[in-house]
Amino acid sequence: MSKTWEELKERLAEARALEEAMILFEWDNETLAPPAAMDQTARTVERLSGTYFKLMTDKRLGELLDACESQSLDEDQQAILRAAKKKREELVKLPKEEYETYTGLTARASSVWAKAREAEDFSQFAPVLEEILSYKKKFAACKAKEGQELYDVMLDDFEEGFSMEKLDRFFDLLKQELVPLLRKIRETGERIPAGFLKGDYPEEKQEELARFLAEYVGFDFDRGVMAVSAHPFTTALHNHDVRLTTHYDSWVDHSLFSVIHESGHGIYEQGISDSLSQTAAGEGTSMGMHESQSRFFENMIGRNRAFWEPVYPKLQELFPSQLKDVSLEDFYRAINRVEPGPIRIEADELTYSLHIMVRYELEKVLVAGEISVQELPERWAEKYEEYLGIRPETVSQGVLQDIHWSQGSIGYFPSYALGSAFAAQIYAHMETEMDMEGLMRAGRLEVIRDYLRERIHRYGKGKDSRTLLKEMTGKEFEPACYVEYLKKKFGRIYGV
Ligand code: ZN
Repeated sequence: MSKTWEELKERLAEARALEEAMILFEWDNETLAPPAAMDQTARTVERLSGTYFKLMTDKRLGELLDACESQSLDEDQQAILRAAKKKREELVKLPKEEYETYTGLTARASSVWAKAREAEDFSQFAPVLEEILSYKKKFAACKAKEGQELYDVMLDDFEEGFSMEKLDRFFDLLKQELVPLLRKIRETGERIPAGFLKGDYPEEKQEELARFLAEYVGFDFDRGVMAVSAHPFTTALHNHDVRLTTHYDSWVDHSLFSVIHESGHGIYEQGISDSLSQTAAGEGTSMGMHESQSRFFENMIGRNRAFWEPVYPKLQELFPSQLKDVSLEDFYRAINRVEPGPIRIEADELTYSLHIMVRYELEKVLVAGEISVQELPERWAEKYEEYLGIRPETVSQGVLQDIHWSQGSIGYFPSYALGSAFAAQIYAHMETEMDMEGLMRAGRLEVIRDYLRERIHRYGKGKDSRTLLKEMTGKEFEPACYVEYLKKKFGRIYGV
C-alpha cells in the first residue's frame, strides 16, 4: 500500500476516533448522563468538535485526498476516499466563524423550541427559526452548484440525487392516490377496536418483550445494547457497538413497533463490513436507505400477519390478562388500524407519508421565500385539513411538534417518506425471489436479513441509495410499488 494512502488513513482514523467520542457523548446525554452535567459536558464536546473541524479542514488532508484520487485503489478504498472527500468538502466550503455561531445557535434553539412548545406559543420560536433559516440558506448558497436551487442543496445533504423535481413527482402520486384512499376508509365509518393494546402493561414485561423482539428480528446483543430515552433512536460507534433506545408508555404497541423499527436501523449498522467499519464510509449510505431498513422491519415484517403467527402466542404468554381472549386476527387488525391524528410520530402506516408531505411542501415554499416563518402555523393547519381531514387544535400538536427545524435539519423530512417507498420496492422485489410470508411463518427471519445484508448493509456508504436499489431490484426508484402496497394492504383490511 502506498505511503500517501497510509498517511491519509492515519489522519482519517484520528478524525474518526473523535467522531466516535462525540457519538458516545451524545448517546450518554440522551440516556444516562445526570441532568446537571449538560453545560460542562457541552464544553468538552465543543472542544472535540473544534479539533475535528481542524483535522478535517487541514490543508494536508486535502492534498492527500487529491493525491490518492490518481492512485489505483480497491473498491473499499475508493468508497472511503469518496466519503471522506464529501465530509471534508461540506466543512471547508462553509465560512468558519459563521459556522461556529450557527452551531451555537442550534445548540440553544432546541431548548427555545421546547419552551415555546410547552407555552403553546409559536412566536417564541419564530425569531430563532428565522435566524436558522437564514444561515441554512447562506450555507446552501456556499455549497450550491451553478443554477442549483437552495432547497435542492439542503435535500442533497440527506438523500443525494433526490431533488425537488423527483420529490414533486413522488408526493404528487401520493396525493393523488393516498388522500382519496384515506377518505374512502374514513367514509366506511369503521373503527377497529384497539383498546386492549392500552392499559396494564408493566414496564419490566414490556422490556422483556422488547429484547425478545429485537433479537428475534436479528439485532445482535453481543454487538449492541438497548436503553431508554425520551425519543427512541439508534446510533453506532462501529459495527461491533450499535445502540438502540426505546420508550415505554401504556400503549404496548408503541414501544413494540419502535423497538422493531430501531432494530432495523441497528441491523443495518451491524451488517456493515469490517473492512469499512470505523472509516468515513462505515455508515448507512443515506437517511432514506436507513429509514427503508427500519420501516421494512417495522411495517413489511412487523405489521404482517404471517410474522405474528409464531410470535403472538409469546405475547399472550407475557400478557395473559390483557391478551388471552384477543384473537390473532383482532390483534393484527388493531396494529394496522388507520386513524388520522395530528402527530407524525404516532401516525399509522398509511397516513405517515401524508404527514411528511405537509412538511415537504411547507419547507419548499419557506426556503423559496414564498411564505414567511410567521405564516407557518396557519399553513400547517390548512394542509392537515386538506390531506388528513383534521386540524391541529394547538401549535404543540401542529407546527411545533417536531424538533428537526430547531436542530437545523431542513430537508430531512422527505427521507422518511422515501424510506417507506424504498422499503416497499425492496419488499416487492424480494417476494419474487423468496416466499416472504412463508419465511415469516417459519420464523426464519435470518434468510431475509442475510439477503438485505448481502445487497445493502455490507456496502456502507460504498454505494448510494439509487445504485443499491437498481442493483437489487433491477429498477430505478419506483414509487408506484409503495402506493400499490398500501392500497392492497389497507384495501383488504377495510374492504375498500
Ligand atoms: Zn427511523
